[in-house]
Amino acid sequence: MTTLQHKDNTQSFITKYAQHAPRYTSYPTALKFEPIDSDLLTLASDSSTTNELSLYVHIPFCKTLCYYCGCNKLVTRHNEKADDYLAYLEKEMVAKQVISANKKVVALHLGGGSPSFLSATQHTFLMYILKKHYAFSADAELSIELDPRNVDAAYLKTLKNLGYTRLSFGLQDTDYKVQHTINRVQSTAHIADLVFEARTLGFKSINLDLIYGLPNQTRDTFKTTIAATKAMQPDRISLFSYAHLPERFAAQRKFGDEILPSAELKAELYNFAVDSFKSVGYEMIGLDHFAKSSDTLAIAKNKGELHRNFQGYTTHGGSDLLGIGVSSISTIGNAFAQNPKALKEYYERLDANLPAATIGLTLSLDDLIRRDIISSLMCNLALNKRAVEDKYAISFDNYFADALENLLPLEKDGLIELGSECIYVPEHARIYIRAICARFDAYLNTDAVLTRYSKAI
Ligand code: SF4
Repeated sequence: MTTLQHKDNTQSFITKYAQHAPRYTSYPTALKFEPIDSDLLTLASDSSTTNELSLYVHIPFCKTLCYYCGCNKLVTRHNEKADDYLAYLEKEMVAKQVISANKKVVALHLGGGSPSFLSATQHTFLMYILKKHYAFSADAELSIELDPRNVDAAYLKTLKNLGYTRLSFGLQDTDYKVQHTINRVQSTAHIADLVFEARTLGFKSINLDLIYGLPNQTRDTFKTTIAATKAMQPDRISLFSYAHLPERFAAQRKFGDEILPSAELKAELYNFAVDSFKSVGYEMIGLDHFAKSSDTLAIAKNKGELHRNFQGYTTHGGSDLLGIGVSSISTIGNAFAQNPKALKEYYERLDANLPAATIGLTLSLDDLIRRDIISSLMCNLALNKRAVEDKYAISFDNYFADALENLLPLEKDGLIELGSECIYVPEHARIYIRAICARFDAYLNTDAVLTRYSKAI
């Protein structure tokens, strides 16, 4: 199918393939986790084959509520709550020492919530306990998500002194009407100043987060957001699709469906952003990330070494991932485990000297095979069938006969090439990648499950 024919068909494809599908930051997804009654992570550390560790620390607090948000967060103005929380983080670090012993930390990521809720003093204490309980490699990447509304130049300086190397600012959308609707009014000039200051301070990499599909977003408002983003010249850009799940996230009921962009407009906004960022030299990473070609994410992509984890695309896919804090997820060996989402339960478990994680699963052989396939498609838009056959001693076409049959309509529509050795997703079909991966997902078999995920487009 030619590109022209494909463009003619865009509208009908979107209607056809805009069904609910996971974002596949993991396979199986977190919705498949089940209650665990043992210390799954400690048990799983026996199956771990790496001595490298990535750390994820979840800071759940935010000062105000953004109505679109689907994160695990706690809105409060009481900064002292973070003091208690940091004490519990240390308790958890101590409890998990057996898992992290003899491993070197190659990456640390602070997410939330809003890590910039912490004061400079609290950040200093957090870094102190992290360094006390973990052995960091000299070139470890230390990254943090920042809400620009509570960051200034002095705060950036503190982060730099603590050793952070990568910053990610939540830009989201620059239009006032959109910002007002989502209850996140912030100054674009302030963010540009922060980016400039961060660069002056010598941070290695700066990322800006954007969201398409937000209420009241139009072609024109989005063009302005994209232009402002390009003007700041970040090293990386994350372009997230707004996930509208009002039945799960009450704040999303603050705005009606009628002011949300249609699936067709969302696809248009996405394509506009892709063309726009590529035209100024950004490389596209997976479904929704962009990076300058000198950035480690682009280098890893070009070497076929890109991975995906709960924080998105990563260059540290070979390491175990240890999550610390409320709701955080760990991947150790062949097991996933997640801490409670409620702060009270998280505190109670640590007070009772119980393992923090309450749900999780150990991956079966089938899960591992499908995880490799979905990860390869999400990262590389390609899959080497022979490599899967060699690694798992299966006949790909027999093992995945159902999935391949389900992909035939997509092949007919020019959205995938099913070769005898490899499977490719052409560039113009990148936006359908979640729908394509869903064909390899053994758990997506009921509408009840599907509607718990956001729309694939
Ligand atoms: S989007 Fe970020 S700052 Fe806003 S409520 Fe969610 S976690 Fe907090």
